[in-house]
Order: sequence, then structure tokens, then C-alpha cells
Amino acid sequence: MNLIFLGPPGVGKGTVAKFVMEKKKIPQISTGDLLREEIKQDTELGNQAKSYMDSGQLVPDELIINFLKERIQEDDCKKGFILDGFPRTVPQAEALSEIDHVIHFLANEETIIQRLSGRRTCRKCRAIFHIKNIPPNVEGVCDKCSGELYQRADDQPKAIKKRLEVYEQQTEPLIDFYKEKGLLKDVDTEKPLDGIFKDVLVALK
Ligand code: AMP
Repeated sequence: MNLIFLGPPGVGKGTVAKFVMEKKKIPQISTGDLLREEIKQDTELGNQAKSYMDSGQLVPDELIINFLKERIQEDDCKKGFILDGFPRTVPQAEALSEIDHVIHFLANEETIIQRLSGRRTCRKCRAIFHIKNIPPNVEGVCDKCSGELYQRADDQPKAIKKRLEVYEQQTEPLIDFYKEKGLLKDVDTEKPLDGIFKDVLVALK
């Protein structure tokens, strides 16, 4: 089952992807996480991507498309995958084939800003928390692996604004792109997490 999770930054794609990954036994492929790993490893791609990412802009298509295509050729993707944060432009979408469902996550702007500004991520295992909505048991410490929780540079107010603009201009056209293909399923995220999980599983049936 090849899935795309589409929606603005902060809507909860990553959190839901981790849930679906467990349920369906297919990997979550977050291009954002992969790029942050490249930066950590100090690779050429990481160095090229860093300034775009920190300022909330998209990394150019020519850097990301082949990188993603190689990743989904790996063995763990044989039964399918969840793309979280890819595609983000029409050329990226055109580079993909054999997609079964596109889940489109919806939330209003106020909710998104609240989710992004309170988000905390584990440096070690990348688990996602929120200071109010999904607080860790101990402040600043990951429940799952005791790693350090941190706030991403692009979850600061200035970069959040830019990312939402970029989403509107470059990624929103994908809603019609996939609607026309009959693949788009809307999921409202203005509800508790359990309800969102349930709606996503129904959409995947
Ligand atoms: P995310 O973790 O999905 O919010 O991604 C963080 C940042 O990584 C984005 O703001 C972009 O700079 C970059 N990025 C991630 N995925 C893509 C993509 N598919 N195309 C271009 N840039 C991306």
C-alpha cells in the first residue's frame, strides 16, 4: 500500500504516519527527517539543503526527487510506504507512480500555528511531542528513549509564516492534482488524536 500524507506543516502528518506505520507494517518516509539526517551527517546534500530548510523554503526539486526515488527502492518499501512531506510540488508528484491513497489532512491556520510552535522532537528517535497536546512525562525528555527534546529551528515564528506561504503557493495545487485522479481523501484534524487515527484507518479501507 503506497500512501501519501498531504497537508500543511504542523497538521499532524508525522504523528499519524507513526501510528499507521505500526498498524500496517510499512515504513514512514519523512523527507524532512531524511534531510535533517543528511545535515547531521554533514553530507553534500545536507549542506546544500540546510539554508533552504532553516528559512522555511523548499529544497529544490532536483535535489530531492532522485533522493526520494532511491529511498523507495529499498527493501523495506516492497510492501508499501507512507510518504510524509513528499511530494510538495507538482514536478515531485509527477515523478511518482503507483500511489493508492492520498490522505489530505485539514486544520485551520490558528490550530496549525499552535501545533507547530508547541512541537518538540526527540533528537535521538524523532518521536514527536507537544508541550500542551502531547506532553512528555518529564519536561524536555523523550518518553520512548529518554533522548533530549528540542524545538526545530523552522518551528520558530518567522519560519512558520514562510512555510505556510510556501505550502499555499507550491503544495496546495497538489490537492486538485490528486482529486482529479480520484485518490484524495480528506481527514479533518480538528479533533482528538484517537478520532483522527480512526478516520485515517477508515479512509484507507
Ligand atoms: P518537514 O519536516 O516535512 O516539515 O520538512 C522540513 C523542511 O525540509 C521543509 O521546510 C523543506 O525545507 C525541506 N523539505 C522536506 N521535504 C521536502 C520536499 N518534498 N521538497 C522540498 N523540500 C522539502
